[in-house]
Amino acid sequence: MSEYKISWWEPTDRKRQWLRRYTSSDQHKCSGTGSYCNAMFELGEADILYTKDGYITGDRDDRKPPEDDPRWPKSCEACGRLFGDNDPHQLFGKQIYICQATGQRSTLDKAPVGACWDAWWISERRKEGPTGSGYMIGPDYRSLVVKCPGNHDWHIDNRASNCTMPDEREHFCWVRHGRPEDGTLHVDKNGNTCAAGAGSIAITGFHGFLHHGVLRDC
Ligand SMILES: [Zn+2]
Ligand SMILES: [Zn+2]
Repeated sequence: MSEYKISWWEPTDRKRQWLRRYTSSDQHKCSGTGSYCNAMFELGEADILYTKDGYITGDRDDRKPPEDDPRWPKSCEACGRLFGDNDPHQLFGKQIYICQATGQRSTLDKAPVGACWDAWWISERRKEGPTGSGYMIGPDYRSLVVKCPGNHDWHIDNRASNCTMPDEREHFCWVRHGRPEDGTLHVDKNGNTCAAGAGSIAITGFHGFLHHGVLRDC
């Protein structure tokens, strides 16, 4: 049996940044991945830029190196095919999060199992109004995500795929109690809920419960 203690992660105003080349998949199918050709060169960290309203902006072109900069990848990481002049040169960034308890920093795709964060890009405009799985908004107006084994992001406040009340938006397929910040986060079916499951998360390779701040397989 494996156990993962829930840890609380908050966004920083820093990001990791890459020089990215890719070929859009309607133009070419990568022979290595079956998806699109892609390659990234890591630049390191940078400040996140915000609009005057406080939203994260897309990257400004004046921070992007010129296209003849030798650090731009020349060929696909999966199949080795050379990029063409018309393939995009993209300054690609991912926000860095910090674990409040340990000081560990990570982007969300690399966060450890048990990491929990608020998907603020879902919840930021919903500080009032309806809550429920049909809105992806929890009872505290947050939209909490927990990292599960297999790098699966469990959106607790989202609708379960086997929801038995798909036309009803205000119930919670998973009912959460407590808080991720203090180790009391707990998910069950005790509340306004549907008949789907028993409050567990079932994904490929993992089936478990989140009880009393611990994610545990069953
Ligand atoms: Zn490729
Ligand atoms: Zn449901």
